[in-house]
Amino acid sequence: MKRLLVLGSVVVAGTLAAAGATLSAQQQPARQGGEGRQGAPPPGGRGPAATVGMIKKINDTLYWIPGAGGNTAVWITANGVVLVDTKNPNNGQAILDQVKSVTSKPVTHIINTHTHGDHNGSNIFFPAMVEIVSQENTAANMQKMDVFKDPANKHGLPDKTFKDKMTVLSGKDAIDLYYYGAAHTNGDAFVVFRSARVMHAGDVFANKGQPLIDRNNGGGGIAYGETIAKASKGIKNVDTVITGHNTETTMTWQDFVDFGEFNRLFLTHARESLKAGKTPEQAMMDFKLPSKFSGYTLTGGRGGPAGNFGVIYEELKQ
Ligand SMILES: [Zn+2]
Repeated sequence: MKRLLVLGSVVVAGTLAAAGATLSAQQQPARQGGEGRQGAPPPGGRGPAATVGMIKKINDTLYWIPGAGGNTAVWITANGVVLVDTKNPNNGQAILDQVKSVTSKPVTHIINTHTHGDHNGSNIFFPAMVEIVSQENTAANMQKMDVFKDPANKHGLPDKTFKDKMTVLSGKDAIDLYYYGAAHTNGDAFVVFRSARVMHAGDVFANKGQPLIDRNNGGGGIAYGETIAKASKGIKNVDTVITGHNTETTMTWQDFVDFGEFNRLFLTHARESLKAGKTPEQAMMDFKLPSKFSGYTLTGGRGGPAGNFGVIYEELKQ
């Protein structure tokens, strides 16, 4: 345990010295890929927190750490700790400090929900012996990130990938990984802690607002709601959802199901508005949601006054 921590520190010290320029370059795509970083942060405390927050308990084996990028899940197994996502660059030690406050076990695995630097930015802090897992498209997308072009950082890339489904570990430690198609990117993994009945949804469900549709990394607004519908049908026995970026609370399974509907309503309205000759801005302006979405934030988010309608229009016109 001690040795692994020390190793981690040595690795990060060396890497930071060698790759300072790469890391600061990396922060650019991290900001673009992150949630809630465009325009004003949404009300209700859902804006991005700059620093790593205090670890939060779900049960004796599952915790999560908000802030400094995407939410990190901490899964304590018989032989070690599995992290889901590693936040923005330079937060490895802060993540580890939070983990150490609840267990002395070493980090053995990292699962990355997708390619963005605010979710895998601190992978390189952890030594090569830590096994990194992602969906195969995410692994391919990560290869193209500047930070991982540096040979000194290759240990931060996935060691193991899956296409549609994979189970990591077994028994009460088992984690089921699922992929149901494009949404936020083309490699979004749903991470299910089976015995805890909890899922980390990554940025497919970042918060209750318009999602970022990253078409440069294969995301899609036509597929988005459908992908969530497939996941809602295919994934069983989940009560609680850790979102990509809500720093205050976890969400319920029904919240996740509803978020799929929210995105399908967006698509339906985009199709109708385009047909009616409306601009994306007009589509955004006359978009009405059922009252169950009253807790959602539509302003101050994506794509300026057109919201996600700009992105979805582009796709519909192709
Ligand atoms: Zn993201």
